[in-house]
Amino acid sequence: MPKLIKKIGVLTSGGDSPGMNAAIRAVVRTCAYHNIQCVGIYRGYQGMIEGDFKEMGPRSVNNTINKGGTILKSARSKEFMTIEGRKKAYEQLVKAAIDAFVVIGGDGSFTGAEIFNKEFKFPVMGIPGTIDNDIFGTTHTLGYDTALNTVVECIDKIRDTASSHNRLFFVEVMGRDAGHIALNAGIGAGAEEILIPEQDLGLERLLESLKKSKTSGKSSSIVVIAEGDKIGKNVFELKDYVEANLPEYEVRVSVLGHMQRGGPPSCFDRVLASRLGVKAVESLLDGKSNYMVGILNGKVELTPLLKAIKGHTEIDRELLRVSEIMSI
Ligand code: ATP
Repeated sequence: MPKLIKKIGVLTSGGDSPGMNAAIRAVVRTCAYHNIQCVGIYRGYQGMIEGDFKEMGPRSVNNTINKGGTILKSARSKEFMTIEGRKKAYEQLVKAAIDAFVVIGGDGSFTGAEIFNKEFKFPVMGIPGTIDNDIFGTTHTLGYDTALNTVVECIDKIRDTASSHNRLFFVEVMGRDAGHIALNAGIGAGAEEILIPEQDLGLERLLESLKKSKTSGKSSSIVVIAEGDKIGKNVFELKDYVEANLPEYEVRVSVLGHMQRGGPPSCFDRVLASRLGVKAVESLLDGKSNYMVGILNGKVELTPLLKAIKGHTEIDRELLRVSEIMSI
């Protein structure tokens, strides 16, 4: 018989993303709804090792649904990657009578939870929180929708300048391994070309496309580039290369950077966070463990943590075609 769960810990780990607070709020309030205790674990796994805990009730998460970042703080913990560190964390959880935890983070945080669960038979549940949307078992991660809206808003503003001066803008967006942000925000913002890690179009193809843009009567152009694109040049080298080969273009570079990770979560992310938080707690209370809660076909579903970590998210090929047609 699994141990009855009377107290659940919640932590945020790895990079922060908008919607994490809404998920913490959902976990805290679902615990209160089911009359069990909830403990906030500060600074990710490092705070777990150090016993940086605080009891949380439904009123301790007032006015947090609209806030970006994470009220529990986040951290990366090298110590948790060692068995000695995880043993300390386990002892702290036992000392505080915490029976299970919910971790909100990316695949690194899930790997830590998965290992911890195996080593100590400790019930864990994951909620995907990262703007990159690169986690298997969910069509959306927390923060992704907000980041898309932020990027589109920024590019709309850049476009005003681009069209006033007949300029070509290279806009670099986040996505070291996945092009979800670049592809979707690129279509949403009407980019002429989108460079993503999953598909190398090559330099020649980019030049051809930009030449075509000019002759087709476009006076300004936006190219959206994911950080991890495979074209073989960073965004500034690419600017120099294009200017050297297409002197008719005046190129400007805009690297959007960390602003993509901040800001109030979109309504979509708030609703998603609330649904995932409820499911995470109720799944633990049902005796389930070692899963990630995600959204698939509009429904909240569980995926084994190991599958979520190892699985690969594919880029939507239909979107590549839509983008190509739109840039005619
Ligand atoms: P993101 O990459 O989106 O910022 P993430 O959750 O993948 O989020 P990581 O920095 O990879 O971020 O991992 C967060 C924390 O999870 C690490 O600092 C570490 O404490 C723990 N962790 C990661 N990998 C392992 C591992 N192999 N074993 C134990 N713990 C791990």
